[in-house]
Amino acid sequence: MEKKLTDTVRTRFAPSPTGFMHIGNLRTGLYAYLFAKRNGGSFILRIEDTDQERKVEGAIDMIYRTLATAGISYDEGPDKDGGFGPYVQTERMSIYKQYAELLVELGGAYYCFCDKERLESLKDANGVHTYDKHCRNLSKEEVERRLKAGEPYVIRQKVPENVVSEYEDMVFGKISVNSADIEDGVLLKSDGLPTYNFANVVDDHLMHITHVIRGTEYLSSTPKYNLIYDAFGWQRPNYMHLPPIMKDATRKLSKRFGDANFEDFIAKGYLPEAIVNYIILLGWCPKDNREKMTMDEIIEAFDVDGISHSSSIFDEAKMRWLNGEYLKAMSEEQFYDVALEWIDKAVGQHDYDKKELALLMQTRVDILSEIPQKLEFLNHFGPHDLAMYEHRKMKVDKPLALKCVLLAKDILSNVDDWNADAIKAAITDGAEKAGLKGGQVMFSMRVALTGEAVTPGGAIEMAVVLKKTESLNRLDFSAKLLADSLND
Ligand code: GLU
Repeated sequence: MEKKLTDTVRTRFAPSPTGFMHIGNLRTGLYAYLFAKRNGGSFILRIEDTDQERKVEGAIDMIYRTLATAGISYDEGPDKDGGFGPYVQTERMSIYKQYAELLVELGGAYYCFCDKERLESLKDANGVHTYDKHCRNLSKEEVERRLKAGEPYVIRQKVPENVVSEYEDMVFGKISVNSADIEDGVLLKSDGLPTYNFANVVDDHLMHITHVIRGTEYLSSTPKYNLIYDAFGWQRPNYMHLPPIMKDATRKLSKRFGDANFEDFIAKGYLPEAIVNYIILLGWCPKDNREKMTMDEIIEAFDVDGISHSSSIFDEAKMRWLNGEYLKAMSEEQFYDVALEWIDKAVGQHDYDKKELALLMQTRVDILSEIPQKLEFLNHFGPHDLAMYEHRKMKVDKPLALKCVLLAKDILSNVDDWNADAIKAAITDGAEKAGLKGGQVMFSMRVALTGEAVTPGGAIEMAVVLKKTESLNRLDFSAKLLADSLND
């Protein structure tokens, strides 16, 4: 029996603190968030930390930080009690034990006392063992006796025999598995910790989750989980499994291998909203194929039909492009605010106009970390490659370049009102009077001002940001370099 959408929708994001959050994990959380918000429901954060061996120091804080930066707010979670807590699995230990024991009573699970050696002996040639149900039919008396004697035990799922467990996944349709193919897996380990297989069912039920949204790696285990719901007599939730994000045609993104960490992208100067927009569109497409969308627009348009059935390949170049679109669409003030820390890196101790630099950069970078490199000419100027002055198409050679640079210096020393229009008018006029082409003068001037062949903006813009004194000093310096090389 599936729950109707008219029930209050409750979805959850259940990350494990086993490393950083790669964008595939984050996308899963986003879809659960979007689905809840689209349907006026609640979104719950649950920390699945029962795998103590893989737990990574600091990973829980990173989960909170990532969600906050990505703009995903949860209605309930470890620090936001909604009456269904605790929301951290290690704080729910007594609950799992209690429910595992209840399941034994209900006939859906059993105590197993098999030791390591016995389990080892069940391994096949590939080192995989399938439990042979050795303890499945122990008498109640024997179980009690062994428990009393303090024998270590686990609790295993008693998978019903000869049934087909099936469900309708909201993305993938009907999924069915024959119970003969399901092992009597461990639900509660000998240390009293639950396995994921058990904890996810107990928690989703007790937290009244109506829609379980998670990666396809759980698609084919879900029939097994459903048998646990059935054994308890609980209503099953609805399921939506999401295809993975791939690194390339064959490899999934993986936090174990350091792939595509959300926080690394932030550090590289991506905007959280652009990353979020990009990764949502990696596995979902709105009906009108829009690409740049705000979170509110996405919530409004989000539908299960648009979720892709196949995996998608993460394409950083595309995300970079989208980030550039976000930067261009910002107001000058907004851009200045996000760009300032990067501009500061480029400016150092110099007294340049940061607002002007921001204007120069806004249309010229896709990600903010490009700024210091593009503005490197501000801090690094000195002897440079004189071959850069030679420009065949413009017919500039070194002697002509020297002429142009000296002329530019002369003209600019007479410009008092230092702005783009005034500089441009003076150069154009001065070049004409000297019988030179404006383009030739500006080209030589640009190289002389920056010592670079490629600059973010033309000669006039470079002069504006460098200001008068620095511009004249640089023109003078470059003219001397050129003159020396001609005298050699
Ligand atoms: N803790 C699981 C993971 O990080 C979550 C699976 C689920 O959403 O049920 O993969």
